[in-house]
Amino acid sequence: MDSIIRTKGKGNLIVISAPSGAGKGTVIDGVMKINNNLWLSVSMTSRNMRSNDIPGETYFFVSKEEFEERIKEGVFLEYAIYNGNYYGTPKDKIQEKLDQGIDVILEIEIQGALKVKELVPDAIFIFILPPSMKELRRRLVNRGTDSKEKVLERFKTAYREINEVTKYNYVVINDEVEKAVSKVNAILLSERCRVDRIEDVYLDNMEEEIHELLVDKDLDNDPIEI
Ligand code: 5GP
Repeated sequence: MDSIIRTKGKGNLIVISAPSGAGKGTVIDGVMKINNNLWLSVSMTSRNMRSNDIPGETYFFVSKEEFEERIKEGVFLEYAIYNGNYYGTPKDKIQEKLDQGIDVILEIEIQGALKVKELVPDAIFIFILPPSMKELRRRLVNRGTDSKEKVLERFKTAYREINEVTKYNYVVINDEVEKAVSKVNAILLSERCRVDRIEDVYLDNMEEEIHELLVDKDLDNDPIEI
């Protein structure tokens, strides 16, 4: 049976940011597993590949020069320089997915998120926080992938980034991954129920007939035959 309301038929654009070490990637992976109406945008970057990267899946890897070429071609919805490397969101697939009613997730840092906010004010902005700065430090150190100096640099960046949290619509604290996953998913589900997503109210044929009978008939002069 047709739904009594027709939504705008478009997905939501969801921007998720977090300081490094907050566990954003793990939370997003968890949400992707339980919500099949999501598409995670794959960014382009000029940073070096890491051992756990899969080209075309975690990022599209290009040289700095190639990235700059793409900027000139207007390929990106937004791009930013982070830790000396370019990162950008290719815009080609995003509209296509939104038009199919699929929610699109951009996992990007704050400068890029703020650019998206200017371009798409009705996008939904979610910030993921660690339970405490102490815990963030512990997670950064335990990763064991960075030098002491690098950990300190990431920690300082995290401090700066956390100040931007009020520019987002939602904040989710990642103390336990499962809880954080269900909170992010709850946000996505509630956003799809918003009244302002309703384009119009329509009645299918059967209901139109009833409506005519109930409202439009002059009952005194034109009684309903039952
Ligand atoms: P990493 O090098 O650790 O993969 O990512 C570093 C930061 O860049 C993360 O905060 C990540 O979310 C962000 N990032 C990844 N892709 C993009 C993008 O397309 N645009 C922007 N602005 N940031 C991105």
